[in-house]
Parts: sequence; structure tokens; C-alpha cells
Amino acid sequence: MDTIVKQYLQKFGVSEATQTFIGKAQRMFIGGAWVEASDGQTSDVIEPSTEGLLTRIPMATTQDLDRAVQAARAQFDGGAWRQAKPAERERMIHRLADLIELNALELAEIESIDMGKSAAQARDVDIQGTVDTLRYFAGWATKLHGRTVEPSLPGNYLAYTRKEPVGVVGAIVPWNFPLQTMAWKLGAALATGCTVVVKPAELTSLSALRFAELVQQAGIPDGVINIVTGRGSVVGAAMATHPGIDKLTFTGSTPVGLTVGRAALEDMKRLTLELGGKSPVIVLADADLKAAAQAIANGVFFNSGQVCDAGTRAYVHRSIYDEFLRELVAYTRTLKMAPGLDPECFISPLVSAQQKARVSDYIETGKREGAVLVCGGQPVEGPGFFVEPTIFAHCRNDMRIVQEEVFGPVLVTAPFDDDEEALALANDSPYGLAAALYSNDLGRVHGLIPRLRAGAVYVNAHGTIDPSMPFGGYKQSGFGKDLGPEQLDHLLETKAVWITLP
Ligand code: NAD
Repeated sequence: MDTIVKQYLQKFGVSEATQTFIGKAQRMFIGGAWVEASDGQTSDVIEPSTEGLLTRIPMATTQDLDRAVQAARAQFDGGAWRQAKPAERERMIHRLADLIELNALELAEIESIDMGKSAAQARDVDIQGTVDTLRYFAGWATKLHGRTVEPSLPGNYLAYTRKEPVGVVGAIVPWNFPLQTMAWKLGAALATGCTVVVKPAELTSLSALRFAELVQQAGIPDGVINIVTGRGSVVGAAMATHPGIDKLTFTGSTPVGLTVGRAALEDMKRLTLELGGKSPVIVLADADLKAAAQAIANGVFFNSGQVCDAGTRAYVHRSIYDEFLRELVAYTRTLKMAPGLDPECFISPLVSAQQKARVSDYIETGKREGAVLVCGGQPVEGPGFFVEPTIFAHCRNDMRIVQEEVFGPVLVTAPFDDDEEALALANDSPYGLAAALYSNDLGRVHGLIPRLRAGAVYVNAHGTIDPSMPFGGYKQSGFGKDLGPEQLDHLLETKAVWITLP
């Protein structure tokens, strides 16, 4: 660990538990064993607030992946997990949730120094969300069943359906909500009786490795959950074509999702793709301006804009546009930019130098395209991969900053004249992950909701998430849902059973 990181951890008094975890040599979790990559390769983990070396993680080979899939397969094909009654699975998932709750502070600190995000937000959102998701799906384990049917064809039959787990699930996870996204994949998989091989993002694997220790402590049998840390282009790509994986669930960017999806369909893997977004926000003339401006800024700048369903395009009725911009900019200037461990931090550093460069390039593109910069947009001196919260006004829908996913703290805005124009602007995107409406005119709001091509519509808020509600996109934001009962359908096969009776 570099001195600058040590000093940073000391300054903010990170817990002893976190220091002990970070001080250890990191290993992957395969078939219940803690292992290095079979060729000994590792990758540096850079702490985003200091740009110093934090630790190293193994970079798996495809042989390591094979071993993980074999372990998951063995459990699925007849191990203790497959034999476990639903109520036993429920208890084990609850035990895991309890352990996460017990270690919430440590997990939040790990998430913060690995990914850059605010530790306080990580505790309240990522870790709490992980606990809630596991508890929600634990309850489902005992409530999965088929139905009996009375067929009309001549003869005497007992006809019924069985819900059966889909098999070994391969889960590929991005870096913006590392633990929580993994929990979204795992909760439903464990409830249905599947086994899982997880590949965290190479930039943010640490919380998954700490989670694996808790999996062991919770008594979940070896091989049910395997954590393989490695490169997308190596391990991720091999997962997409691995014959031992029955279902692939991928969260990440649309271009990679397309590649992964095509490969996975070669052998008919079941497939869920949670991909990118460029979510529109419509502010009608009657909206509570101050509240809308604050909710929109909080939504788009949360996690420094590294949020797939962030409302990154705001269309505002022309009669209130200037006043709205004033409120928005004034509020945005109050959001504190600080290192992730600072309890006051709202704007945290981005995950990596590469992401900072990418977002900064988009800001320069916006300036060149003629968008009017009204907030931020200036380079921030390091150390730390910080980018100022940036707002552009009078944008056109043909601009790259309006069409493409930036995945950083950048909001584009434009005025509109009537609801039809607002809808046309909002729907003019290859993505369809989410949308938001700000208005108290319920009649108009209800009229607009069905016409927005998006997997979620938030009214007078942004990004409200609960395990009971499905999450997933329309159009190039992917298909299939995480969370809610809808997710269970993607992890179960339905078998039709016909018994001819005498
Ligand atoms: P990414 O697509 O670069 O990587 C996602 C994961 O895929 C990582 O684990 C990566 O290692 C792996 N990967 C990379 N190349 C691969 C390949 N060729 N084959 C298989 N796996 C490969 O995305 P990212 O930069 O980590 O995350 C940001 C993106 O994720 C954004 O586009 C964001 O919108 C999206 N996202 C979507 C959701 C959602 O629920 N819809 C949620 C979070 C993030």
C-alpha cells in the first residue's frame, strides 16, 4: 500500500477490520478454497481519492474459471445445496444478510476506497440495499411453486407444472455499485436453488472478496457461490461461451452487452442484459421548481453520475427554464466535492484515471458542439479522479453529449414548448432504462407515463429502488429484469408434467 493511501486511511480513521482486510494478500474464492490465479497474475487496485496503490487482486485464467464452474456444477447437480429444502436456503440467505448488516461499516469503507464513492452513501445505499435484497429473496425461497391443471383433451390425466432452478448462473458485474449489483444477481439465484459464478469488475473486486468470507461464515456450502476476479476480455468472455454455465446475467455497457449476449446465445444460454442508459427527465410548467431542481441534481450527481439510470437529460418547459436553471446551478454548487471517506462527501472521485479522462473528453465535446456551459466543466487538480458537477444548457438532441452515455457528473438540459415535443425529445434515444416526470398535474402525468419508452418512470423523484420492484431496460438498455418477482422467472425453468391415469 502506498504511503499516501495509508495516510488517507489514518486521517479518516477507517476501522481496524477494514485495515486488516486490506492488509491481507487477496485471493479468489473457488469451490470454497481461497486461491491465487493459476499463473500468479495480479492487477493493481488504485485508490481513487489519492491515486495511490491500495492492494493487488488476482487476475484469473480461463482454467480458474473452469474450476469455479465445475464447483458450481457439482453443487447444482447433486450437492448439499441441491438437496437443501427451501426453508434451509431461506435461513442461509438470512444468515448471510445478518452478517452483512453486522459488517456494514467495514463493507462501506471497502467499497469507498476501492471504487471512490462516498462511504456514508455506500453504507446507506449499497450495503443496506444488499441486505434488503437478500432478505427479500430469502422470503421467496419457500414460495416458488407450479400449478395443477385440468386438461380438456379426452382421457384422464394429472397435469401439473414444476418450477426448477435454471442451473449454474454466470454473473458479470460492473464497477459502479459492486456489492449491490452482485447481490441483485445472487439473491434471486440463491432463492431459486441455482449456484453462481460471479465475475466482479476488475476495478472493484474487493467487496465481493470480503462478501465471500461472509458466505463461508454463513455456512453456505462450498461451490454454491464462487468469486472469480479477472479481466472482462478473458474471464468475462469465457463465461459467455462456457458450456457449464446455463444462464448468463450481465450488467454493464451496451457495446459489451451486445458481444456477450451474441456469444451466450450460441449455446442457448438463458440471458439477462442490464445495460447502459441516458435517462430523460421532463419538468412540466406546474412543477415545484425548487424541489424538482434539487431532486434532479441529487439524482444525476449521486455517485458522481456513475449510475446507469441517472436522469442525465433534463427537458424543462420554456416558461420556467431560466428560473429552473438558476435553482439547479445554485443547489449544485452546494454539493460538496471531497474524498470518499470524508463524511461530508457528495461528489466523490470517479472510479479511475481512464473514466476521468473519458468524462473530461465528453465535457470538451459538449463545449465544441455549442452547448452552453452553466456550471462546472473546469479541470480539477489531483490527487483524486475528481470531475466537477457539470451542467449544459440549450442542448440539441443531435449533440453527442445528449445521445451518448457519459457515465460521470454531467447533466444536459434544453427547453420545450409542449408535452408532445417533450415526449419526442425524451424518447429520441437508443436507450430506455428510466425516465422521470416532475409535475403535480396527475391527469397529465398519467397520460405521459405510458408513452415514455423506458423500463421505469419516476414521478417527482429519481432512482427510487426497492427489491420488490423490477429493474431493467427497454430498447438498447437491455432485456430481462433484476429484482421483484419478475427476476425469479428468469432463474426458473417451467416443466410441464403429464401423468396418464388409469
Ligand atoms: P463494462 O461493460 O465495461 O463492464 C461490465 C463488466 O463486463 C465488467 O465486469 C467487465 O470486466 C466485463 N467485461 C468487459 N468486457 C467483457 C467481454 N468482452 N466479455 C465479457 N465481459 C466483459 O461496463 P462498466 O464500465 O464496468 O460499467 C458501466 C456500464 O454499466 C454503463 O454503461 C452503465 O450504464 C452500465 N450499468 C447498467 C446497469 C443496469 O442495471 N442497466 C447498472 C449498472 C451499470
